[in-house]
Amino acid sequence: MDARKPTLREKIQKLRQTFLGKVPETVRQGRDLGARLILTPKESGTLDDLYRVFHSIKGTAASFGLEEISAKGGAGEEVLLAFRALDEDARARAVSGSVAEMNALLAQVVELAAAALDSENRLSALAPSFDLGLESGDDGAPRKRVYMCDDDELAAETLIIQLKCFGYAVVNFVSPDALRAAVLSNPPDAVIMDIMFPGGSHTGTETVASLRREMPNPPPVIFISGRRDFDARLRAVMAGGQAYFAKPVRAIELVDTLDTMTSRREPEPYRILVVDDEPEVAEYHSLILEEAGMITSLLHEPAGILDALAAFRPDLVLMDMYMPQCTGRDLSRLIRQIPDFISLPIVFLSSETNKVTQVSAMRVGAEAFLTKPIQPEDLISAVAIRAERMRTLRSLMVRDGLTGLFNHTFIVQYLDTALAAARRENGKLCVAMIDVDLFKSVNDTYGHPTGDQVLVALARLLQQRLRTNDLIGRYGGEEFVVVMQNVSLKEGMTVMNGLREDFARLKFQSGDQFFSCTFSGGISRFPEIAGDRLIEAADKALYEAKQAGRNRIELASLEPLP
Ligand code: GH3
Ligand code: MG
Ligand code: MG
Repeated sequence: MDARKPTLREKIQKLRQTFLGKVPETVRQGRDLGARLILTPKESGTLDDLYRVFHSIKGTAASFGLEEISAKGGAGEEVLLAFRALDEDARARAVSGSVAEMNALLAQVVELAAAALDSENRLSALAPSFDLGLESGDDGAPRKRVYMCDDDELAAETLIIQLKCFGYAVVNFVSPDALRAAVLSNPPDAVIMDIMFPGGSHTGTETVASLRREMPNPPPVIFISGRRDFDARLRAVMAGGQAYFAKPVRAIELVDTLDTMTSRREPEPYRILVVDDEPEVAEYHSLILEEAGMITSLLHEPAGILDALAAFRPDLVLMDMYMPQCTGRDLSRLIRQIPDFISLPIVFLSSETNKVTQVSAMRVGAEAFLTKPIQPEDLISAVAIRAERMRTLRSLMVRDGLTGLFNHTFIVQYLDTALAAARRENGKLCVAMIDVDLFKSVNDTYGHPTGDQVLVALARLLQQRLRTNDLIGRYGGEEFVVVMQNVSLKEGMTVMNGLREDFARLKFQSGDQFFSCTFSGGISRFPEIAGDRLIEAADKALYEAKQAGRNRIELASLEPLP
């Protein structure tokens, strides 16, 4: 068995202890700087360093709920501000008094820190108390289970086959009683319920209503019914149904609703780069964000910013204001001068409360200015809102409007990056090109909007069935591309053939006509085929699949292309 993982509170407590343990060293630095100031009162570098010592004591202590220590840091800042306002002669006269004042404050900081370390109980009480209830679950994404109850077994079977293609495991129960027993003993992710059962009673709605009374967390319910009248719909709503489909049910629409209702899929976690020269502070903020499901990377040296941005690709940068090498303002300006990062959100987090400084920071293009100490909930929401906006903007640029898949430009870019990585790390890369068979005739027979439905269904199928690290894009009109990392050709082939068979099983509807579609595909793989010819080779294999009769996947041949 694994040892119990420390809770967030315990991790923060540990960080706070580390901070307290380092206080004597920080104070020693402060005293040394004070001594130097007495010798060279005109040198503003010493003054700045000293200011940073007090500023960081103020901010860090506040983050850890150590208000008394934070107040001493703040008092030191004020002594220094007053000293800085003096002219040279006045400084020379005042320096020993000011340094004595600061040393007194530093002595108090040492005392308070020692006392705080001694009484951990008191500290726990001061700790920011919150419980986000976001302990992450396991990552395995099994098929979602759906229970269906329809006495028309044939109709049920047709629907089940199609739902299966979209990754749902569906079981049909012919009687509401059987469904009820199954739901109570082993609750599914969703229920699809008919309303009317033999005998003309509304057993469907009644069963659902009683399940909702009996269970603390009943699964969501979709009603399907041959009736389209107000009374049936009202009964369904009153029984607690979340959706209503009149028969014949269109599988694609049903899947849409099921997806939304059962969406356990966490969106991709936000990636946050935390820039702070104080390791404990950076880690404290990172812990809070990670507890809320985000991924963080820490940077303590401003000089590492370019590498960090390139390697970590953050959705947002959370930045401290005062750091030894340069200020957060400078660093933001530097970031903004790089075309790739013009729209990267930067949020300042600082104990700077001066409004003028805050406004000037915003002027360099910061998204927001948060002040330390900040409530964990406030930090999380401020960061999440802005990271989300960034995501939306970005996705508008790289996604295709009809299918939501990556667009042509993005795929080409992505493939370049993935290939470079594969060359570096001896990785393998499979590329599959897919093209819907005789699609022109679908448009000609059923109309363009129906054709669109087919493309959306195919996109959805690909998205649901491929692994999250496979990339799926719309390459052109009815052409799609799938990029799979580190799979063998055989595995790639198996995956694509599974998808092909499932797609062929989908039933599309236009008016009262039903039809199905198929697709053909070609697969190529790096390193067997040179990176710059991957797409071309897959395309050629696709052409061969078409020639060979369609509804099949062909491997790219290894012969040199003409
Ligand atoms: P093949 O099996 O050889 O691929 O035959 P095909 O009819 O699919 O091939 P062709 O390339 O001749 O036709 C592709 C058709 O796809 C033509 C075009 O009107 C249609 N198409 C392209 N983009 C879209 C779209 O976004 N929506 C719809 N409905 N049709 C599209
Ligand atoms: Mg086609
Ligand atoms: Mg085509």
